[in-house]
Amino acid sequence: MTHSRSERATHTMSTSRTALITGVSGQDGMFLARLLMSRGWKVVGTIRPGISSIARMSPYLEGVKLVEHDITDSLGFADLLSWHAPEAVFNLAAFSSVGRSWGDPELVMRTNGMAVVQMLDSILRYREKNTRDIRFLQASTAEIFGSDVSGHLDEDTAHRPRTPYAVAKSAAHDAVISYREHHGMHASNCILFNHESPFRGQQFVAGKIARTAAEVACGNPRARVTLGDIDIERDWGSARDYVQCMAAAVEHGEGGDYVVATGTSHTLRDMLVAAFASVGLDDPMPHVRLDPGMWSSTQADSLTGDPTRAATTLGWKASATFEEIIGEMVDVDVRRIRTGVEESVDYLRES
Ligand code: NAP
Repeated sequence: MTHSRSERATHTMSTSRTALITGVSGQDGMFLARLLMSRGWKVVGTIRPGISSIARMSPYLEGVKLVEHDITDSLGFADLLSWHAPEAVFNLAAFSSVGRSWGDPELVMRTNGMAVVQMLDSILRYREKNTRDIRFLQASTAEIFGSDVSGHLDEDTAHRPRTPYAVAKSAAHDAVISYREHHGMHASNCILFNHESPFRGQQFVAGKIARTAAEVACGNPRARVTLGDIDIERDWGSARDYVQCMAAAVEHGEGGDYVVATGTSHTLRDMLVAAFASVGLDDPMPHVRLDPGMWSSTQADSLTGDPTRAATTLGWKASATFEEIIGEMVDVDVRRIRTGVEESVDYLRES
């Protein structure tokens, strides 16, 4: 089945819509599911079989139809398409730790790379059989640009991936473009720069900093966070904002690639200062332990995005400030420590 450019551009999505979100128990999956349901979508969300983050995230996923599925299972994915007939697939599941991706590069290639090619191919087969398109959104990443970059990075910046995570994500990104250009699929990449919320795993650096500031504020002066290089710069945004861009990319008339970023970067030192300042503390440095061994030359010194295309084509713009994002994370961690309740819908601040 072929589609002319104008046919694709004028195709609108039906009113009763089903979205399939892989990795719904992750930070972004949770926010995206809630956003889409608030807009009238039915949401089917996949969770990883076995020990999964769903135990932690289930309070936030009321209304989502949860199904166990490992994204490396391509036959299982084809079945999901047949059973649920989604209008759109948002692929957010991934081995999402850049640093830990060196521990099992083969698994990372299968999860972050090959699984995406298999999903695209399953969607193509579904379209041939059912003469109906399924739109596809891939959670791509700024890590595809590699370590030796400067300035504002955009959709045309060359890929120079330097970690297993980034190599696999770069391959998946290119596969999305191939299927869009060769097969006329409505397939998009959101090139996500770092984004945070109180619901991201505690293993990520912003979560560690927020937790340490909260512990000090709650009366533990011995709390420490161990960091590699506090002068690296990242373009940090809000997960709540970034899932809005994912939805806009899927709802747009044509597929495309979009940098999702704020356009401004900050150092980890800035983050420490913002986190501690949000609870009235002046100097974070007594609570920082520096370990240069945690730093790798394959990680970029600075990553800043240029979100112009997302603004002009999708009308999307990041809204939360750096201080608001970090302040909310510390605030929720303070509430967690004071109540002893790690997860609660009371911690959600719906926009
Ligand atoms: P996250 O919280 O780590 O969520 C990832 C999800 O993928 C988890 O629910 C995880 O389940 C699931 N998963 C992992 N392996 C799987 C498998 N084999 N089969 C099925 N599910 C699997 O990540 P996030 O922060 O929401 O990020 C969402 C997406 O954006 C990811 O693709 C990530 O690489 C990308 N991204 C994120 C950022 C960021 O700053 N957050 C930046 C750039 C790109 P378990 O937890 O149960 O293992």
